[in-house]
Formats: sequence, structure tokens, C-alpha cells
Amino acid sequence: MGTLSDRINNMEESATLAMAAKAREFKAKGIDVISLSLGEPDFKTPVHIQEGAKKAIDEGKYFSYPPVPGYLDLREAIVDKFKRENDIVYKPENIVVSNGAKQSIANVMFTLLNPEDEVIVFSPYWVSYSALISLAEGKPVFIEGSIENDFKASAEQLEAAITPRTKAIIYSSPCNPSGSVFSKKELEAIAEVVKRHEDIMIIADEIYEHINYTDTHVSMASLPGMLERTITVNGFAKGFAMTGWRVGYIGAPTWVAKGCTKMQGQVTSANCSIAQRAALTALESDLGPTKEMAKAYAQRRDMVYDMLTGLQGFKANMPQGAFYFFPDISYYFGKSNGDITIENATDFCMYLLEEAHVSLVTGAAFGAPNCIRLSYAASEENLKEAIKRIAAALSKLDQ
Ligand code: GLU
Repeated sequence: MGTLSDRINNMEESATLAMAAKAREFKAKGIDVISLSLGEPDFKTPVHIQEGAKKAIDEGKYFSYPPVPGYLDLREAIVDKFKRENDIVYKPENIVVSNGAKQSIANVMFTLLNPEDEVIVFSPYWVSYSALISLAEGKPVFIEGSIENDFKASAEQLEAAITPRTKAIIYSSPCNPSGSVFSKKELEAIAEVVKRHEDIMIIADEIYEHINYTDTHVSMASLPGMLERTITVNGFAKGFAMTGWRVGYIGAPTWVAKGCTKMQGQVTSANCSIAQRAALTALESDLGPTKEMAKAYAQRRDMVYDMLTGLQGFKANMPQGAFYFFPDISYYFGKSNGDITIENATDFCMYLLEEAHVSLVTGAAFGAPNCIRLSYAASEENLKEAIKRIAAALSKLDQ
């Protein structure tokens, strides 16, 4: 009998994907589950992007291995995008296109970390950061934001967490799971700390940049002195409703981009050729559909905020970006329906899946065990029905 490696045994399964799989299992049994677990736009990829992929197939030119870091014209278009939208000046050699932003982050961790190197993670954080750091034999060090300060860790906390082993810092803004958005002033304060420690790199995950309800998205690499210290992570999944196409990318100093290319050359060779052509089409067109989607998310956010904060025991911040609510539901810990007792946020999610047929994700997976994550990238009708069902299920718990 073979055995699994310690690496795999010790790795957490992705909680977002695990909950999505559970919701699918329920659906396969004919149960009408409303899935608010996966952060996935409910919109279809815009038609012109689909057409870009079809055209690439018909041209018959894109069936061979692409260059490892991505087609040159796509990397040039990403360079233009960084200049146009983010005020960052990269060259094509600074860009690596990967199989989703998740692979981009994995490449970066394997490229930067030696065993026991520390990565400071702003918590709550996206589920896969800690798993990918550990997989690369690094050590995640968490600095915590709380609901009172909009889940934002501060520059002071960052300074206090730095040790001689700190190799990198990672955050997302707009944040998955909290929806918080760092202001320019807050990012400048963080940049000042980073600049005082010359060997530390900052990984800025900007995958939600287009779903931002504040007026501006600020890129860390655009701040003075930060270009050489920052790895900017982005992708097409969220802003262009292209989750299944799996196209992410980084903009990074050349030495990092080279390391990521070397890593990728051994793991996946390159990203899917046709998906890259679709991504190029997305960048060559205007952002009309992206803006329309963002407008719809903004409306849903307002609607869900009113409904969620109307539920007994829910404490929620108002998200400024992305498409998640991250309420504190610890009020329910210790409550029971006479059969099941809710001990923690994971029990809470399982109870709502079984009783309300609504799937959510436990905050424990994001480093905040008192919270749950709800994705509002769903239709208004489904969101209303989900909250109604949640309210009914919670009313069965002793209050
Ligand atoms: N980023 C999305 C989420 O947080 C997609 C699922 C995943 O890859 O974790 O739900």
C-alpha cells in the first residue's frame, strides 16, 4: 500500500472549494441549495471575450505550447494595462501569466521562500495564502484586523511583527474575505515600514481591483520607491467573470519574474493558449461590462447589508470592495435546536447548509473563527431567499 506524503497530509483542503463541492453534492441529490460559498461571479464571461477565444481556435495558430511566462502580445497588453490603470511602469519581462492568480501566488512563494522564512499575512486573509506559504516550507505570521477597525491590520502591527526571518508580506485589497479597501494613506504607511527593511518584499493581491466601491484603487507598486519591492498579483477571474478560464498574472521585479517562470516551466509549462487569447481580448476592449457588473454588486451589497444587519446576532462591517460579507456570528455559539449545538463558525455553516440549504464558508478558514463569509455574487432573488431561509433556521435555535 502506498502512503500520502506528510506535505499532503498536513495541508488543509481549500475551504471555499470544499464547501462549494458540498453544495454541489446536495444539488446532485435534488436539494435546492443556494450557494453563497464560492467567490464566483454569477455573470457569464462577456460575449466579445468568448468570441476572442473562438477566433483563436478558428485561426488555428494557438495549438502549440505558448512561451512559459505567456504570449508576448498578452504580456505587452498587461504592461499597458498597468500603465493605464495603475500607474505602474513594467516591461514584458516583468510579467508572468499563470493558471489563475492562485498559481501566481504559489509561484511567488516557491520563488521567494527558504524553509522557515516568515511571511506576514494580514488577517483575515484569503484561505490559500497560509496553505501556499506552508507548502513552500515558509511560516505564516498573522497580524489581525478586527471588525471594529474594518478588519484592517495597521502599519504599527506590521512593524511589530517583522523579525530577521521576515521575507515577505501579503495582503489583498479589496480584501477577500472582509471587503475592506486600503486607502492611499494606509498603503503609504505600510510602504514606509517596508522601506525601512530592505530585504522584505510585499505581495499585493489586487484581483478585486475592479470591484471597488470607493473612488480609487491604489496599487502598492505605484507608490514612490515601491516598484522594486512589490509583486503585484492580478487576474481576469473576478473583473471579467472568467473564473473557469484560469488566467492570472504578476507584475514583479525581473529577478522574481524569472524565478516564477522557472518554477512554472517545471510545473505547468505555461497557461492554456486559448485562455490567454481570451484574456488579450478582455484587455483590448473597454471596461463597460466590468463596470456594469461592479454596479450590480454594489446594489446587492446595499440590499444584503440591510438584510444581514437585521438578523439577530449578526455584526457586519460595510464592505468597500470585492463581493463578500464577513459577519461576526459568535452570538450563536452555544445555542442549540435541541439536537445540534453550534460550537463554532464551522458548525454554524454546517447547520445552515443542512437546515436552510444555504452554503457559506466558516471564518476559521480565513483566520477569523467568530465570522462566516457570504458571497453576494448571486442573483438578488437568490440572496433574498437565502437570507429568508437563514432567518427561519436561526429562529429554531434557543435565543
Ligand atoms: N477566490 C475565490 C474564493 O475565495 C475562489 C475559490 C478559491 O479558489 O478559493 O471563493
